[in-house]
Amino acid sequence: MIQSTIYALACLCHPEKHIQYVGKTAMGTDTRRRGHFQAAASGSHAPVAAWIRTHGTDNIVSVTLETLPDAATDGDLSDAEGTWIRMIRGAGFNLLNVTVPDGGRITNRSLPPTLMPPRTPAFDGLLW
Ligand SMILES: [Zn+2]
Repeated sequence: MIQSTIYALACLCHPEKHIQYVGKTAMGTDTRRRGHFQAAASGSHAPVAAWIRTHGTDNIVSVTLETLPDAATDGDLSDAEGTWIRMIRGAGFNLLNVTVPDGGRITNRSLPPTLMPPRTPAFDGLLW
């Protein structure tokens, strides 16, 4: 059985930028990552798709942030995703996510895409 997972995307060509996107999947992170690549290849205008095109699929890695219990519901998965997004943004990371699970488009899309997030001890070692 494939477990529900919260994952992060980052690129290997700019590891200093750390996590760029947080998502949820109930179909496995490899399958979900391929879905992101297909969206990017099809010309999606989503910020994460544009970012994947810029850095190249060979450089994009998926990192598991949390694996939910077998009994987790779709609502639990969305709650976990929202919690991770808020936590990572709260730590100063400029994620490419444009929606959060509990509704509403967020407003940080105007932040410079080259903004460097501060390194924080909590995230050192999470990816690199
Ligand atoms: Zn890169």
